[in-house]
Amino acid sequence: MDQSQIDALAAQPVSARQLFIDGRWVAPQSGKVMDVTSPIDGRLLTTIADAGAADVDAAVASARRAFDSGVWSRAAPAERKKVLHRIADAIEREALELAVLGVRDNGTEIGMAIKAEPGSAAGTFRYYAEALDKVNGEVAPTAGSVLGMILREPVGVVGAIVPWNFPMMIGAWKIAPALAMGNSVVLKPSEVASLSLLRLVEICHECGLPEGVLNVVTGHGAVAGEALGLHMDVDVLVFTGSGGVGRRLLEYSARSNLKRVYLELGGKSPNIVFADAPDLRQAAKVSAAGIFRNSGQVCVAGSRLLVERSIQEDFTAMLAEEARAMKVGNPLKLDTQAGAISSEMQLARVQGFVEVAHDEGAVLLAGGERILAETGGSYFAPTVFGGVTPEMTLVREEVFGPVLSVMPFDTEEDALRIANGTEYGLAAAVWTGNLSRAHRMVRAIDAGVVHVNTYGGADNTVPLGGHRQSGNGHDKSLHALDKYVNLKTAWIQL
Ligand code: NAD
Repeated sequence: MDQSQIDALAAQPVSARQLFIDGRWVAPQSGKVMDVTSPIDGRLLTTIADAGAADVDAAVASARRAFDSGVWSRAAPAERKKVLHRIADAIEREALELAVLGVRDNGTEIGMAIKAEPGSAAGTFRYYAEALDKVNGEVAPTAGSVLGMILREPVGVVGAIVPWNFPMMIGAWKIAPALAMGNSVVLKPSEVASLSLLRLVEICHECGLPEGVLNVVTGHGAVAGEALGLHMDVDVLVFTGSGGVGRRLLEYSARSNLKRVYLELGGKSPNIVFADAPDLRQAAKVSAAGIFRNSGQVCVAGSRLLVERSIQEDFTAMLAEEARAMKVGNPLKLDTQAGAISSEMQLARVQGFVEVAHDEGAVLLAGGERILAETGGSYFAPTVFGGVTPEMTLVREEVFGPVLSVMPFDTEEDALRIANGTEYGLAAAVWTGNLSRAHRMVRAIDAGVVHVNTYGGADNTVPLGGHRQSGNGHDKSLHALDKYVNLKTAWIQL
């Protein structure tokens, strides 16, 4: 990948996109389209369809037809494996095109996007291609006069609703295991970042996925998302996004057919640095990346930094230095370390949190303002606040932007109390050279993933999911397959 290839791809026009239903592009019955604006420069990129309830009905009906036909749901596992591998190969072949398209849509810096988007999506399709024929049924230990069998069957139609940060990665976390287990899928991407997923669905069909097995409806959450959530013929809803929308999905389920709902929600993750950390300079570097990469639009971002009081001054100074040194700007440039905020709306939300932090008495140590406004794009400086207390809004609520709050602690118990003093429980990190303390902290922190002497980074072999109000499901790993199967008991009198 070199800069001239990226520049050439970025100069290409992006054609308008319709809905993808029943294996082909169709115009929305709603008759509506939405503008797609690039956060890089605020310019119009293209338009996409703005689906209404009738479009969602058509997509679900197509998914149901495909499921009932058995063309995919009853296909031999070896057949499904072949198709999923082909999809992974095709994503890898087209990785740069997909990454550039996604970056133009949502502003993630290309260095991160190439790995986290097509790179990760290809890996996910490959992982579940390999896994799907290792999922066995069971024979229960019954009396000899009966045979008790436990069968794992596809559930039916999966509705998947995903956010705008890392749409391909998160989309693949839902689509690949759902397809691996034989389900049909209706995908609703975020209105802020749909383009790379629209190309992905086309790739899936070019690779032999039968028509109707994967349909994509773009549109507003409150319309297309709601219609999918309330649909009587959707069996499972899988979701990544905010807690507010997650709550709605649970209501939709209660008001419709009691479909299963799996939620991957936000976080306010503590990053805890003890004075005995092996390398404080490295800890500051990685901690800065853990909150400022992708401009903080990362669900597991380490947005609460807890520092042992004896090193607080020095460590905070190192961190603020890292923040100021971060290269923020055009996400299509290879040396950019943090790209754009995905939309003007999100940028306004980040600014709102910064204003409230000032009003509540937090002390600004770095950043704190919109930058590069002359580009027409949506950029915000990496921001560090000290002097914060656990009651402040900045410490309690997810910003989903490049804003870090720093708090001191005195003892391990003190650190734990602050770390767990949140309604969230998605991620955390502990920096220490003391092995016993590291293990104690891993056990005591109430979060889905606890890093030790690093922040972020994982692969498909381990699950990602939250505790408490960070959600109730898991993406990735073999555990994710449970969301996409029904258990059935066969009780046979011999
Ligand atoms: P969001 O909740 O606003 O939107 C997510 C999706 O829900 C979009 O497709 C949107 O169109 C749809 N939606 C919105 N309103 C809806 C409604 N009423 N009914 C049905 N669908 C609706 O989230 P976002 O702003 O796109 O993403 C940011 C959030 O996602 C953050 O809270 C972040 O922490 C979270 N996130 C979590 C993870 C994880 O794995 N836990 C990963 C990435 C992002």
